[in-house]
Amino acid sequence: MTAMIRHAGGCHCGRVRFEIMAPAIIEVEDCNCSICAKSGYLHLIVPQSRFRLLSGSDCLTSYQFNSGTARHLFCSVCGVKSFYVPRSHPDGYSVNARCLDEGTVADMRVAPFDGRNWEQQFPQGRGRANQEQR
Ligand SMILES: [Zn+2]
Repeated sequence: MTAMIRHAGGCHCGRVRFEIMAPAIIEVEDCNCSICAKSGYLHLIVPQSRFRLLSGSDCLTSYQFNSGTARHLFCSVCGVKSFYVPRSHPDGYSVNARCLDEGTVADMRVAPFDGRNWEQQFPQGRGRANQEQR
């Protein structure tokens, strides 16, 4: 089993801060869906138990569209979406790997994800449970 280390991250203005437990070498997904393509979001999926919001819950604003399952959370002050609740893993979090602090990520492997065809990617209506191990 891969060792988990602590990574911290947050939004641009610093109001929203979180920490996660994840491997030093992270595997992230570069999604081509309508919203991720515009923001350049790189997904690091973590289960709820490995995510902790440290500050900024009062600054988070939610944006929902399409199926309404995903809760796109962004900082109402600086506008940066540093993490959110994804449709694929509604009981976990997707952290934006671009919003992690420097110094703890040893390497990052980026895989393309075809979010434009979300239903074909997740015919069961959500991501596989074993993705939560990442
Ligand atoms: Zn902010």
